[in-house]
Amino acid sequence: MKFEFWTTPGHSHLKAIFEENDSLEGKREEGSGTPITLKQKTVTFDYEVQNIHPDLLGLLCLITFFPFIGTEAEFPQPVSSRLYEAFQNKCFTDKKDISFRNISPDVEVYVGHKIALSFGGGIDSSAVREMFPEAFVVHEAHIRDGTLVHSHSHPIVKALEPDGGRLVSTNIRYLSHPGGWHSWPCSVSTSLLMATDRKIGLILTGSILGACFLSNGVKFWDRVRARAWHGPSGNYWQSAFEAIGITMFSPVTGVSEMQTMKLSSKLLSEEKVVYCMEANGSACNSCSKCFRRAVIRTYIEPDFSPDWNDYNIPSIHQLLAKRPLYMSHIFSTAFSLKPERYPDWILDGVADMVKVQSDWTMRCYQDSFLLCPPEWREYVETRVLEFIEPMTEDDCEDLRSWDQSLTN
Ligand SMILES: [Zn+2]
Repeated sequence: MKFEFWTTPGHSHLKAIFEENDSLEGKREEGSGTPITLKQKTVTFDYEVQNIHPDLLGLLCLITFFPFIGTEAEFPQPVSSRLYEAFQNKCFTDKKDISFRNISPDVEVYVGHKIALSFGGGIDSSAVREMFPEAFVVHEAHIRDGTLVHSHSHPIVKALEPDGGRLVSTNIRYLSHPGGWHSWPCSVSTSLLMATDRKIGLILTGSILGACFLSNGVKFWDRVRARAWHGPSGNYWQSAFEAIGITMFSPVTGVSEMQTMKLSSKLLSEEKVVYCMEANGSACNSCSKCFRRAVIRTYIEPDFSPDWNDYNIPSIHQLLAKRPLYMSHIFSTAFSLKPERYPDWILDGVADMVKVQSDWTMRCYQDSFLLCPPEWREYVETRVLEFIEPMTEDDCEDLRSWDQSLTN
């Protein structure tokens, strides 16, 4: 696959040129790898790049088109061997072994010293925004079939422009059928695009404990140990960023939704957080997301009491009956430690679940900072610990032994 990159007034464009070994059919680089079919070969961003480091551009090509690349890649500009080596990790080569046609020894390592936040608009990235107000907020506005997908996050980010943030419209999420980013790091593609111009060295994200260490609440996954084969960040894609001199890291890697909800409560009360848009763009108070948020707010806010009857519906009963239960550590904490705050129909539905003895989900798993590169580690860790207490030894033991298949 060959890539072309060019700018026009107000825009940047990235095009994939297909060759013999490439395929329009691929698998999404996320979860179980949903099959996807590419429909559009050109990505357009409404941001006109002035400069982009060749390795950052090369990585942008790879995160966008990886599922469709055959055996070779030729980038818009020669890239360094650092990018090539990152893609020699076995986690990549087990999927595909891509040879790079244009590698140059003359590409200097990328250096950036500023901070961006790849802002999703929801609870988790709002919590990061609260802790790191100095971060430049970048949010992607999705273009689907030529039309802007409306979101309440747009005016929130627009209000921060020009120097506190930037809303970037792009079709990157809807290039394929079914729609969705081709790889999970595409969530930071707009930050990567702007990084060189803005001298960004650290891209913050809002990935939480449940996703990073608990397989969404099913069982503890030792991501620190996984560095042995995933590279220093504990995830092979994230390690590829680090290899070329730009860090992608979530300060809430070791923090649960209990805390991100607490941290974003101020922004939530100002209506600057969007977590469900099912009811004409507002929270619907009946979907599984709204239900989990209601459970969490009830746990952390003494004065919060939703109308639980809104949720006494078949879809929520089905959600609670499912095993493994999604984000079960959150539900177990709430229902084990403050049962008096929830109705019987909920408690009855989860009576078989693992009980927790302490509220470790309210504290931060400090080992998570080992996944942040040394040059940013102290800065990030110190800041997070100004807001959240670290887990105790007992907490860490409870976390590491989390396994939903056990019952008590
Ligand atoms: Zn909802």
